[in-house]
Amino acid sequence: MAPTRSNRQLRSKQTCFLCLSSTLSKKLDDSEEYYFDEQLDVVFLLRYCLKIPSSQCEVYLREYGNPSTWLDVCENCESMIQETRDSYTNAQKLLQIFKNGVKLIETKLVASFKDYAVISDDNTWATPLARKIRQIFLHRKILNSILCVHKITS
Ligand SMILES: [Zn+2]
Repeated sequence: MAPTRSNRQLRSKQTCFLCLSSTLSKKLDDSEEYYFDEQLDVVFLLRYCLKIPSSQCEVYLREYGNPSTWLDVCENCESMIQETRDSYTNAQKLLQIFKNGVKLIETKLVASFKDYAVISDDNTWATPLARKIRQIFLHRKILNSILCVHKITS
């Protein structure tokens, strides 16, 4: 059974990577394959907070092994990293919901293209600005489709 944050052994005294306060190292050894959350925290800290390229993290992974052994953080900083990672995860979920919503809106507008062709001569159908916005959107959509096909075929 994998050790949890609460039952694993604490080792030597270390300095927190972020705030430089004294902390107890929770790392066992380089081959330790547990501490999945701590590994994710370290990778998250490096990749998304400190903007270290993934290629560099891959080098660290090859050279130093388990990310949970790369650096020590105190409990306060560990909580801060976890909260920030949770926020990032929630933001990604919300972003996906937003993207899905935009796609639904676009799909609806594109799907009504045929109907629009039929009623577009009717000036009472919508305000001039609404017709203009619709045309700009559809022209851009068609242009993007053509460019996309061109990219695939060239
Ligand atoms: Zn700290």
